Amino acid sequence: MENYIQQINGEKWLVEDEKENLKISYRIKEVIAEKQSDFQHVMIVDSYDFGRMLVLDGVVQTTSLDGHIYNEMITHIPLSIHPNPKNVLIIGGGDCGAAREVMKYDQVQSLDMVEIDEWVVRFSKEHLRAISGNLSDPRVNFLYQDGIAHVAHKRNHYDVIIVDSSDPIGPAEQLFEKSFYQKIYHALKEDGLMVCQSQSPLLHQKVMSKTNESLGELFAHRKLYTATIPTYPGGFWSFTLGSKKYHEVYVDAFEKETKYVNLELLHSCFQLSEFIKKYV
Ligand code: SAM
Repeated sequence: MENYIQQINGEKWLVEDEKENLKISYRIKEVIAEKQSDFQHVMIVDSYDFGRMLVLDGVVQTTSLDGHIYNEMITHIPLSIHPNPKNVLIIGGGDCGAAREVMKYDQVQSLDMVEIDEWVVRFSKEHLRAISGNLSDPRVNFLYQDGIAHVAHKRNHYDVIIVDSSDPIGPAEQLFEKSFYQKIYHALKEDGLMVCQSQSPLLHQKVMSKTNESLGELFAHRKLYTATIPTYPGGFWSFTLGSKKYHEVYVDAFEKETKYVNLELLHSCFQLSEFIKKYV
């Protein structure tokens, strides 16, 4: 099994290889659990500054300190635009943080959580409760399979699809392809909408532009929004929404229990800085 923890001057460090010229390091107290699954190396570590973290193939996915920012932004924005989200699908999202936020909506009757790697869910429920809340709502159906195969067979089925994927390498690579978004389009009802994380506007401009281009070609409405998430490289992250019909935040009050999202943010997250406008 690959060892992702380095000993530097007698201390444990997780060194994430982000790009050829960029590594991000976290000092670690201990490795809580690790496993080489059929898909990737899955690890929960306890870090000094970010608390417990989920790490896949050496890349930090979510942390106790700032995981709520990402999970709230990828869920409450689309669910404040779609007025009646009954059937929701999350692709990926094995840490269960996004699913936990979706469950705050009484209108949601069923949530399919399609995660390729059961070990991510198992470890998160057991060792990462700050994020997963040990999710056990009966409306959630856990399906352990490839999200691409799952949507390929669905037609006119979901109101909202959330693509909560890891980076575009390994099992998640194809989750950034236009052919995948096309399948999602068909799996959505005629007034459905989707959202995906579209990487860093500063460090991954190509991925962000391509995602926006693909969704712009497929959907009647395409919108980009951003948030600051310290754990992700560059600290500044983008999300892209594709919608067949609804494209404005319809709520005039926001009463969910959250740590990051509020009514003002539901609107202001769509304000884009000058350089981002040039890429989308
Ligand atoms: N919030 C995190 C981020 O942006 O880095 C990622 C959330 S979550 C941990 C990503 C999940 O997507 C992983 O658990 C991974 O196993 C899952 N995944 C990757 N490829 C997949 C696929 N083809 N189908 C379903 N799930 C997939």
